[in-house]
Amino acid sequence: MNLEVIEKNQQKLIFVIEDISIEMANAIRRIILTEIPVFAIDEVIILKNDSPLYDEIVAHRLGMIPLKTSLENYNLPRDCDCGGFGCPLCQVSLTCEVNNDTNKPLVVYSGDLNSNDPNIVPTHDKIPILKIDKDSKIIIECYAILGLAKDHVKFSAVSNCFYRYYPVIIFNEDDIKDKEEKELISKMCPVNLFELVNNKLELKEDYWKTCTLCKACEQNSDGKIKVTTQKGKYIFFIETDGVLPFELLIKKTFELFNEKIDEFITKLEEIEILSKIY
Ligand SMILES: [Zn+2]
Repeated sequence: MNLEVIEKNQQKLIFVIEDISIEMANAIRRIILTEIPVFAIDEVIILKNDSPLYDEIVAHRLGMIPLKTSLENYNLPRDCDCGGFGCPLCQVSLTCEVNNDTNKPLVVYSGDLNSNDPNIVPTHDKIPILKIDKDSKIIIECYAILGLAKDHVKFSAVSNCFYRYYPVIIFNEDDIKDKEEKELISKMCPVNLFELVNNKLELKEDYWKTCTLCKACEQNSDGKIKVTTQKGKYIFFIETDGVLPFELLIKKTFELFNEKIDEFITKLEEIEILSKIY
């Protein structure tokens, strides 16, 4: 398996992965989207709410705030010794107490939440939760737990994760003689992959990064241009809101993948034992 990182910053990771099957690529995508445990607020106790929003809406807005996640010191509630009732090993408490003593309405932001663990805090401080009028107050107590996105979308480790087939565009410039045809091909490509240089039709060097395999060039050239894909090669795009660093995300993905394979083998062995008995 070959892996080449094309772009990496705080929000985005793009890499090309080679020599893997489509099933494997899809398994990686599905684990990233649904199986990585991350923190989110799951229980809210509203002691005072002077805002115009109903308590339920406030609770929902709190639940959707992405929280930075540390996987080292915490258990999923179902795997915790406390049996999921809530203890320091599976729960983080966040409180929010704001008293508007100014003369105008005040917006309460995610940055106003105080966590009992400095590692489990909102990824951004300026996510608005609600607005309170002057001389109004809000007192909220929240409990965040680890969860999986397959149970609720608020536990999403990534904002988006998808892959594209690696595109291959083949053509012989000599076959396309007509100037108008060349112009048409370059104009009809929605992502402008073609350039006309000295009346020659040229493909941009990094065309594979943006090609969406729409085949507009193939249709507009009567098949003189061929658009195909490279077998076993995919371009992966992952976007995050900062819940987990990419290194940890990828490591956890493969850990879970291996666990699933081991579980599958164990189950198969069980079946084999059973078939011997009966
Ligand atoms: Zn616990």
